[in-house]
Amino acid sequence: MSERQLRLSMEPPPSLWRPYTQMKLAGPTPKVRATEGVRLELEDGSHLIDGISSWWTACHGYNHPHIQGAVADQLARMPHVMFGGLSHEPAERLARRLAKLLPGDLDHVFFSDSGSVAVEVAMKMAVQYWLNRGVKGRHRFVSFRDGYHGDTLGAMSVTDPDGGMHRHFAGYLPQQFVADLPTDLDRIARLETLLARHRDAIAGVIVEPLVQGAGGMKFHDGDTLRRIANAAARHGHLLIADEIMTGFGRTGRMFACDEADIVPDIMCLSKALTGGTIALAATVARRHVFDAFWSDDPAAALMHGPTFMANPLACAAANASLDLFETEPRLAQVRTIETALRQELEPARGLPGIVDVRVQGAIGVIQLTALNDAGWLRRRFIEFGVWARPFGDILYLAPPFVIGAEDLTHLTRTMVTVAREWSERHGT
Ligand SMILES: *Cc1c(COP(=O)(O)O)cnc(C)c1O
Repeated sequence: MSERQLRLSMEPPPSLWRPYTQMKLAGPTPKVRATEGVRLELEDGSHLIDGISSWWTACHGYNHPHIQGAVADQLARMPHVMFGGLSHEPAERLARRLAKLLPGDLDHVFFSDSGSVAVEVAMKMAVQYWLNRGVKGRHRFVSFRDGYHGDTLGAMSVTDPDGGMHRHFAGYLPQQFVADLPTDLDRIARLETLLARHRDAIAGVIVEPLVQGAGGMKFHDGDTLRRIANAAARHGHLLIADEIMTGFGRTGRMFACDEADIVPDIMCLSKALTGGTIALAATVARRHVFDAFWSDDPAAALMHGPTFMANPLACAAANASLDLFETEPRLAQVRTIETALRQELEPARGLPGIVDVRVQGAIGVIQLTALNDAGWLRRRFIEFGVWARPFGDILYLAPPFVIGAEDLTHLTRTMVTVAREWSERHGT
């Protein structure tokens, strides 16, 4: 046994259990000690430009003084108070503002603390919507191939069962219907048939509008989305739009649903809701969904209430984040990023082993035949001073909207360089 092996065999396993990680094989993890603008500062004093906005959340970059000030003020006054039986202005104001910002009569906001829980709440709402209206048996969901809706059990059940990361659990989760996105006539027909045939079993249809994120950054257009919305409406199904990743400008629209001019019955929001600062999520219902719970019968109430629901610090951060969308040119910045991504990632197209280069809003993707050498890829990005996290079969960028042209070009050049190097190693 080498000295290193001996030492490793004697070291206790780490205390910290990391996300999506085989702990035994995990290499050292970069340790961040501070953030500023679009940069992460590591323990050794080096910096990385964040190419993926901390899992697509930090749309205003890090440490924006307006959000920091709002959270500091709120912290000094009231960090938290339970939401059962009590209310507070940060939550009421945020609910009013979201209702105003969202399309149609998406006016009733239920807060929780993570995207997955927002999806669970949406699914509970949809199932109970039918029960409250005296309709029994409608408790299954239609979701789409390559979809991802979170890591809790209900959300897992509507995530792609084959391609998704929750394969092991296939036999243990509620059985849902998985459809192909209706992108051609054949698929449209099959979706229509599914929605008609199982009408009495289906509680709702759930979709990530325009961009399927964790399923591989796959894009579809507004027509496809409109088709889904129309089909769901025609067959009398509730439509749940999971805008957890797409919401707040990432696709180029404030909400991806705006692109197709549709109003889903229920919408889930989280990720960029607080500008990447504090965990918060919202499930927003249209009037007719809310009305199904409006009753003299206490048993018709929505029985859900996370302990830290509507945390005032998080609501203050979200209100401040919405201020920034009003006072700073975020959507124009997304358009500028989109143009740059389109031009600057293009050189990767056609390289051996590169399957696709695609851009939607502030998301740029280079798709590979397969993610060989993921460890090497991640290391290479860090050597270039870039934080990126390739997954599935893609390299991708989803930078903070405030990124400057020079930093963005550093990200895109690095992506293309790393893709080229990868292509030389693996592209046969
Ligand atoms: C991230 C994500 C979720 C899950 O959100 P968490 O906060 O990680 O629980 C759900 N749906 C979509 C589309 C997401 O991108």
